[in-house]
Amino acid sequence: MQVAFSADERRVAEQPYYLASGDEVEVFQAAHRQRLPLMLKGPTGCGKTRLVEHMAARLGLQLITIACHEDITAADLVGRYLLHGGETVWVDGPLTRAVRRGAICYLDEVVEARADTTVVIHPLADHRRELNLERLNETLHAPDDFMLVVSYNPGYQSVLKDLKQSTRQRMVGIELGYPVAERELRILVRESGIDEARAMELVKLAHAIRKLDASMLPDVCSTRTLVSTARLMCEGLSARAAAMAAMLLPLCDDAEVVRGLREVVNTYL
Ligand code: ADP
Repeated sequence: MQVAFSADERRVAEQPYYLASGDEVEVFQAAHRQRLPLMLKGPTGCGKTRLVEHMAARLGLQLITIACHEDITAADLVGRYLLHGGETVWVDGPLTRAVRRGAICYLDEVVEARADTTVVIHPLADHRRELNLERLNETLHAPDDFMLVVSYNPGYQSVLKDLKQSTRQRMVGIELGYPVAERELRILVRESGIDEARAMELVKLAHAIRKLDASMLPDVCSTRTLVSTARLMCEGLSARAAAMAAMLLPLCDDAEVVRGLREVVNTYL
């Protein structure tokens, strides 16, 4: 069978580690109990996905994650007829499966998706909690456990691509940033196994880089890239080599900028 679109679907058995920065766990829980959709705002690599995975396990719910991009249409989310052995059969999309199963549907980087997706998201996000399957002439009512979670990175959007006000009004917001030093240190130690002293050097470096003009290097120094750097160091790489490989090279193409950042790295590591 032709596969139109795939999404990450799973029941997270073990509760993934998540260190809260504020009241995000409580807000998430309250929003779920009240059947309100949730919007997670924050830069790439700051813990949005990890929070959703943690909460899905905590609430005992299946998690269906859809990484949005500009080619994703409403039909990709909802479903479509596909050819199967000479017959056309209806195949539910990931959003429809999430509604049927009472799962958490996580639309990662939602503003990347095509504008027509808001047509299906709207009635699902407001008090109706309905998903219209036009092609099947059917309307699904979301069970109480179903929850819609969207994430986006406010730093990236052009005004045009911004979420519509009417969509935003229906959501509960949680803003996440990079954790404060003491918490980021604990995350690094826990996620990579690195010792505290070396983790602290990485956190100090991160603070120095985050203070620079961020427009050229938005993602260079996320918690994620710090964790990757620490993991390479645990494999025996020197701190400088690890930072080069996990922070600078994948995220920075401008040779001048890399040279400048390298100097900062050499000052701290
Ligand atoms: P985002 O979805 O915001 O792009 P992720 O949730 O994928 O970022 O986070 C990237 C990585 O950073 C995670 O895999 C995890 O190792 C680490 N991380 C970030 N924030 C936290 C946190 N609060 N608790 C535990 N791990 C975290």
